[in-house]
Amino acid sequence: MNMRVLVTGGAGFIGSHLCRRLLADGHEVLSVDNYFTGSRQNIQDLLANPRFEAMRHDVTFPLYVEVDRIFNFACPASPIHYQRDPVQTTKTSVHGAINMLGLAKRTGARILQASTSEVYGDPECHPQTESYWGRVNPIGIRSCYDEGKRCAETLFFDYYRQHALDIKVVRIFNTYGPGMQLQDGRVVSNFIVQALRGEDITIYGDGAQTRSFCFVSDLVDGVVAMMDSPADFTGPVNLGNPVEYSIAEIAETIISLCGSASRLSYMPLPEDDPRQRQPDISLARERLNWQPSVALEEGLQETIRYFQQVLARG
Ligand code: NAD
Ligand code: UDP
Ligand code: UDP
Repeated sequence: MNMRVLVTGGAGFIGSHLCRRLLADGHEVLSVDNYFTGSRQNIQDLLANPRFEAMRHDVTFPLYVEVDRIFNFACPASPIHYQRDPVQTTKTSVHGAINMLGLAKRTGARILQASTSEVYGDPECHPQTESYWGRVNPIGIRSCYDEGKRCAETLFFDYYRQHALDIKVVRIFNTYGPGMQLQDGRVVSNFIVQALRGEDITIYGDGAQTRSFCFVSDLVDGVVAMMDSPADFTGPVNLGNPVEYSIAEIAETIISLCGSASRLSYMPLPEDDPRQRQPDISLARERLNWQPSVALEEGLQETIRYFQQVLARG
């Protein structure tokens, strides 16, 4: 059934891939974005599609549109971006969630929240299951993002309990792929761009901290599966690739895939940087019949090809 679908943050990295997928599935797609970290370039290829519309709007302000489904993805995701204006980051998560939940309440739309593995903070439970409550610093430099997203989850579940809204919550783990910004600041984009330019690879700390990286097409499949799942399954559900790597391993792999002569350069570890992160995706496997299928090397190769083109354009 074709629907009118709203994607907030639709001009961002994941949001633009999601818009492309929803259009391919035959839906009408409205992207709402204030272009803080997203760009029109990301959705350039979609603008000619008569079923696609792009609106410039900040989700911290009310939005009155008629839709059947809402994917709430608006929020800067890279630490350098969300720390640039931390008050606005919290507002985007909290006021943005209230406005989108109010919109869902008025229209009866099903609404999905892009939450994050950051709700687990620097976890003592490994790998992380959805039942783990997390270990988050409420007053640190990452808190605007982590606590904003935690509060958004609270709002989703209170609208569910208080107003019987049709909600879905996914907790997304580190995702990478074509479409990431050159200056995004995240580890995969930084390392690839540095390797392709022959610059030093900037490892923060000793590189022993771990992350699990999911290729964007796998992630989008999981997000869509969650939106389409039965109404009694609200989540939260972890979406990510459970294969865990140290940051030093990621650096070595990227250097080798790029055939680069870059050397490693060690920099201070940012405050509150989590030591380890790996999703337990048993729930997604069981309820969504979903698991990632793109191996890291394959996904990195595709991402490297994308950045080669971006750098060649200058
Ligand atoms: P991104 O920065 O590329 O995209 C975010 C988009 O939201 C951008 O287009 C930005 O302009 C827009 N935006 C920001 N504030 C807004 C506002 N107030 N009003 C309207 N639009 C606004 O980041 P991404 O990696 O595509 O992340 C998308 C979502 O997924 C975010 O909610 C993020 O928290 C979540 N997420 C991402 C990851 C990841 O690894 N990429 C991991 C966990 C969760
Ligand atoms: N809202 C919106 N679009 C709508 C309906 C509501 O942006 O179509 C916003 C509105 O600003 C409101 C918020 O969502 O403040 C929460 O709506 P809700 O109905 O839950 O609360 P109330 O209107 O009672 O504050
Ligand atoms: N990181 C790094 N060098 C970089 C960028 C990031 O060593 O140039 C590290 C960072 O300290 C963190 C990990 O890589 O331990 C993942 O960072 P990213 O910002 O991509 O995501 P997040 O910390 O939000 O998981």
